[in-house]
Amino acid sequence: MFKFSIVAKPDLISKKCEEEVKSTLIANSWIYDENDPYYVIVIGGDGTILRAIHRYLDKIESIRLLGIHTGTLGFFTEYNCEDVNEALETLINKRYILEYRRMLEADVLTKDGKHMFYAINEMRLENIMRTQVIEVAIDGEHLETIRANGVCVSTPSGSTAYNKSLGGAVICPGIEVMQLCEVAGIHHNRYHSLGSPLIASDQQTFTFTSSDFRDISLVFDHVVANVDDVIQVDTRLSTRKVPFLRKKGFSFAQRLRNSFIND
Ligand code: NAP
Repeated sequence: MFKFSIVAKPDLISKKCEEEVKSTLIANSWIYDENDPYYVIVIGGDGTILRAIHRYLDKIESIRLLGIHTGTLGFFTEYNCEDVNEALETLINKRYILEYRRMLEADVLTKDGKHMFYAINEMRLENIMRTQVIEVAIDGEHLETIRANGVCVSTPSGSTAYNKSLGGAVICPGIEVMQLCEVAGIHHNRYHSLGSPLIASDQQTFTFTSSDFRDISLVFDHVVANVDDVIQVDTRLSTRKVPFLRKKGFSFAQRLRNSFIND
C-alpha cells in the first residue's frame, strides 16, 4: 500500500490520463495523498516535471517521480500517455530503476540576508530593462566582466533546455558539471568577455556580483525568486538530487533524436 499524488498539466488529454492513473492505483489499494506522497506521477511534459519538483522541493529526496508525457517523449518523462498501462504495471510491480539527477543551488545575498534557491534545469540572472554588467568569479577569483541581458547556469539535465537555445553544449546525463552561458552578451572591440559556454566541475562555485543589480530577475527553472536588493549570487551543483523512476529503454541519443534531430 503506497501513498501517491498526481501533478497533471491542465489540458484534456493530461486530465483524462490523470483520471485513469488515479482510479487504477486506488483500485490497487494505493492511497491518494497530495501532502505526503511517496510516488508523484507527473502527467504532461518536462515543464510539468519542473512544477512537480518545485511543488515537492522540501521533501524531494524522499519521493519518487514518474513522468508520463502527453506530447512527444521528453527528457524527464519515461512514458507517453498511450503507454499508461505499461507505466502503471511497471510502477505497481516495481520494475523500474532509480536515476538521481543533481540540482543546482544558489546562495543569494540580499540586504535582508541570505536566501537559498534550487533548480533542476537552470538559474538565470536576467535584466530586460537595460544592459546588465555582471562580474563573474570562479572559486572567488575574478574571471570576467559580462555586459549582457544576463547569465544562465545550467545543470546537465537543463542543458537541453534554455541553455541549448543560448548555444550551450548538450551534456550527457551522469556527468557532474554545471555550465555558464551569457544571455545576449555584448562583444566588440571595447568589451570582450569569454563569450563561449564555460563548463565547471561539481567542486566549483560561480559568483556573480554587480555595482547595480536594479531590475534584475532571478529565475530558477520557471520560478521567479521573490528577492529585492540582490548583492551577490553564489551558484554551484547541489548535493540534493531528484529521484526519477526510469525504465530501461530510451537512450539519451533517442531522446535527442526525437526532440531535435531531423535527418
Ligand atoms: P515551459 O513551458 O515549462 O517549458 C518550455 C519548453 O521547455 C517546453 O517545451 C518544455 O518541454 C521544455 N523543457 C523544459 N525542460 C526541459 C529540458 N530539461 N530539456 C528539454 N526541454 C525542456 O516554460 P517555462 O515555464 O517558461 O520555463 C520552464 C523551463 O523552460 C525553463 O527551465 C527553461 O529551461 C525552459 N525555457 C526554454 C526557453 C528557450 O529554450 N528559449 C525559453 C524559456 C524557457 P515540454 O513541452 O515537454 O513541457
